[in-house]
Amino acid sequence: MQTLRQQITTMLEQRPLDLRQLSEALGLREKELLTHLPHVARSVAARKGRWTVVPAECIGCGYTFRDRRRLSPPTRCPRCKASRIHGPWYQVASKS
Ligand SMILES: [Zn+2]
Repeated sequence: MQTLRQQITTMLEQRPLDLRQLSEALGLREKELLTHLPHVARSVAARKGRWTVVPAECIGCGYTFRDRRRLSPPTRCPRCKASRIHGPWYQVASKS
């Protein structure tokens, strides 16, 4: 039986997922998942794996949130002011 954080890690090793996809797959609220992600990132780093965040993108104008440090998805696009944003996607590359 895997812990939730192990489960998240395994899923992100298979393919990059955003918060919405993780929340649907695990049946957890996005807010709750966000509290686990920093721990997942840290334990991946501790195992010498690579934690990657693929920047979020605005669906309206294609703006990429490259400089964003926080793990949570942005709510609004600074360029076109739309709130249709997908990502960021989280990814784990484990060293075998
Ligand atoms: Zn935009």
